Amino acid sequence: MDKIFKDVADNVTWLSGIGADPTGGTTRLLYSDYWVEAQQGVKKKMDEAGFTTYFDDIGNLFGRVEGSTYKDETIMSGSHIDTVVNGGKLDGQFGVLAAYLAIKYLKEQHGQPLRNLEVISMAEEEGSRFPYVFWGSKNFFGLANKDEMAGVADFEGVKFVDAMRGAGFDFRDETKPLRDDIKAFVEIHIEQGKVLENEGKAVGVVNSIAGQRRYTIVLNGESNHAGTTPMGYRKDTVYAFSKIVTQSIDKAKKNWRSTRTYFRKSRAKAKYG
Ligand SMILES: [Zn+2]
Repeated sequence: MDKIFKDVADNVTWLSGIGADPTGGTTRLLYSDYWVEAQQGVKKKMDEAGFTTYFDDIGNLFGRVEGSTYKDETIMSGSHIDTVVNGGKLDGQFGVLAAYLAIKYLKEQHGQPLRNLEVISMAEEEGSRFPYVFWGSKNFFGLANKDEMAGVADFEGVKFVDAMRGAGFDFRDETKPLRDDIKAFVEIHIEQGKVLENEGKAVGVVNSIAGQRRYTIVLNGESNHAGTTPMGYRKDTVYAFSKIVTQSIDKAKKNWRSTRTYFRKSRAKAKYG
């Protein structure tokens, strides 16, 4: 077991060094030199472990161990290789390394698997270089739109398409079929929150994800003479706004409490039957 922990630590340290930022953390933006170096470095590791490795058209990297029996069924695991500016060691790249190390370990311990096991090191998920997100996974599912990228450029004015071709990749060949062999996908990812720490848990299994929505709401009140307008005649937007804010937060807290109770109960049930 100690060897595995050491392998994980060594690999995280190694990969964090590619794009290590003098101002802290790792800065490895999509299609940058460091990004290419990281993808090539992970590829080399997987080659050395005897995986079959390849890139797709846009630069997602794959490392595969063929199954012996269920040849059209693949269990995939991985995460994204790009980082935000000053990104943390465990965001994205940990999921890539965890998948690589787990599959390497399984292969060494148990030989050829029944189903194909495959690592994906996704090109992009952070939107930190170009104003566009999920370029890696969207291409995997055929959801990325080439036309959307036409005017896209980074902060220095480098066009998306030039950066992509500069790194040796191009748009997805849309005549190629999409994959339908993925039977399960697991992404190991740092929580980036405090729940596990506060609850004293090592791992959380995620079965749903927070969906953010943003609204622009206009409240129309009525200005009036403060001294002579009795409370009943006022139409005060700040008051209305404060109600909206407190009621929304109360509602969210109530939902959170009931979800937590639900999970605690179902956990207790699973434990004690
Ligand atoms: Zn991430």
